[in-house]
Amino acid sequence: MLGAIGAIVTDSHLVYTSGRHGSAYVNKDAIYPHTELTSDLCLAIAEEFAGEGIEVVIAPAVGGVILSQWVAFHLSKLTGRQALGIYAEKDESGDAFVVRRGYDKMVPGRRVLLVEDVLTTGGSVRRVGDAVRALEGDIIGVAAICNRGNVAVEDLGGVPKLSALMNVTLDSWPEEECPLCAKNIPINTEVGKGREFLARKAAAMGK
Ligand SMILES: [Zn+2]
Repeated sequence: MLGAIGAIVTDSHLVYTSGRHGSAYVNKDAIYPHTELTSDLCLAIAEEFAGEGIEVVIAPAVGGVILSQWVAFHLSKLTGRQALGIYAEKDESGDAFVVRRGYDKMVPGRRVLLVEDVLTTGGSVRRVGDAVRALEGDIIGVAAICNRGNVAVEDLGGVPKLSALMNVTLDSWPEEECPLCAKNIPINTEVGKGREFLARKAAAMGK
């Protein structure tokens, strides 16, 4: 199902955000237009945490806004108690996440679940966790659709529980060691950073 809608791309030649190359890609943006699938994935997350007394679900904007809504919706239905769905957004520096829009008043003293679509390094979730802790929210766990970076609880600031619907290990190489480059396999410009990579290369050749 995830393969059919292009959420998981395999047997390709990708450039990741890190600059490394690889043959597979998890394209989270392909999931969200499919609302029933998104709902089903979030139901699975909600079921995993239904017994944890979650009061607030929070996620990093942008994609996480959709996730936190669906997870909170299903948690509320499953438990018969309202779970709030809110989000954190990047501050002006772009480095930290902040909770604004009055949502900051919903966090203190509450049992909070952090959700994320794809965990690569866990950096965004860790920073959302920092914002929740600063507001004295009680982090109960982290849930993700896909853990593609072997992210562990220690990488997330020591949260009590980490749950991913899928664990995917993707081989990757630095550009100069990439076996796909060596075989002149065309770079995928539809997903990942392939387009930017080729533009940079073309600019460097022009000099
Ligand atoms: Zn390559």
